[in-house]
Amino acid sequence: MRTGRQFVMGLLVLLLSSQGLAAKLTQLVVSANNSLVLEIDHNVDFRWFLLSHPNRLIVDIQDTQLQTSLQHIDFSSTPIATVRAGLQKSHALRLVFDLTRPQKPLVTSELAASGTKRIFINFSSTATVPVVTQTTVKNLKPIMSVTHQDRRNIVVVIDPGHGGKDPGATGRQGTHEKDVVLAISKYLAELLNNTPGYNAVLTRKGDYFIELRGRMKLARKDKADMFIAIHADAYINALARGSSVFAISAHGASSEAARWLAERENYSELGGVNLNQLNDKNNLLRSVLIDLSQNATITSSLQLGNAVLRALGQVNRLHHNKVEQAPFMVLKSPDIPSILVETGFLSNAIEEQNLRSPYYQQKIARALYQGVMDYFAQNLPEGTMLAQSAKPMRYIVTRGDTVASVAQHYRTTVAALRRVNNLRSDSLSFGQELLIPTGNNA
Ligand SMILES: [Zn+2]
Repeated sequence: MRTGRQFVMGLLVLLLSSQGLAAKLTQLVVSANNSLVLEIDHNVDFRWFLLSHPNRLIVDIQDTQLQTSLQHIDFSSTPIATVRAGLQKSHALRLVFDLTRPQKPLVTSELAASGTKRIFINFSSTATVPVVTQTTVKNLKPIMSVTHQDRRNIVVVIDPGHGGKDPGATGRQGTHEKDVVLAISKYLAELLNNTPGYNAVLTRKGDYFIELRGRMKLARKDKADMFIAIHADAYINALARGSSVFAISAHGASSEAARWLAERENYSELGGVNLNQLNDKNNLLRSVLIDLSQNATITSSLQLGNAVLRALGQVNRLHHNKVEQAPFMVLKSPDIPSILVETGFLSNAIEEQNLRSPYYQQKIARALYQGVMDYFAQNLPEGTMLAQSAKPMRYIVTRGDTVASVAQHYRTTVAALRRVNNLRSDSLSFGQELLIPTGNNA
């Protein structure tokens, strides 16, 4: 016998199905040629229109419900700022796309053999709307990404050595290391801050003293992706000259790792892992995590050091041709690639003369900048704007495409397109997926 409850449930199901919301919008993706593709699992009618003040594109799809997330769609290659959805009284699913500028999109649709309906919205007036086959649309997954405001700049912390009561080395002409390295550091910071995607932070901006550990703490507070200490020391031998680059060694780092173990509250996070949440009474897991991070950081520091050394070799002779490893305190952060650059020797008459000159200081700063750029070209930190923009786009080959025409359309070269896709020949097949080189891959 039916209970009242079962009856109500049955009625509810009946009512819901009689609403006629039979179709589902299952996908909303941005395709490789910056078209918007909407996929609905039934053949339903739709209409679209444009509104201005503010500019919007409205798409109404009859008898359809939303079955996909509109969050985290990367619209950055389209004029779409945001999208929202609502259900109309007429049972239409209404999608409202806020546009960054007035548009005249080309809107087409097709019905696949399976009964799936696809709506293509192409904002580019020059591009032709592709006929996307059933199989290729399946491959077109929504491109997930963090939103614009989540993408951060790469943070480079620059540490001019010494300062205030500590002048560092002093040359025969009375040149203080603390002044020379501050000047070079400021030039370097300016170069980086003028580069989109980069943010340089100085541990000191004037002539004052900061403890070594205070410098490391600043780097941690600023969430540094890189730490560069800049020095110009002296040596007993006045003939000694040339630039050197130092990184920490695993041995030199071990004492700091031990400190991390001891100071739980000061260093609670490591590479996104909250160390305080570890249920680890004997510290073993903590210690392993710190070691792993430290080892990876030393590898990165050596890579950075080599890039900087190569660039410095273009403007000054090198004191050592290899990155040296020494247990300098400021290089001991277990999770921030760090180097110490000895730009030259103030104890050497020629180098003192050079290091005093703003022209030479800028030359050194440009070499350091070049080294930093070379390093990040290979090692973009996750979550940064630059890492995001370097991700290759995908493109589905349509009729009439050639390697040359695709390369031209995306302002890349045939050679880059071949390389990224391992193409042996220039013939493309319909529906073939191509990676479009961008940023570092181009
Ligand atoms: Zn120094």
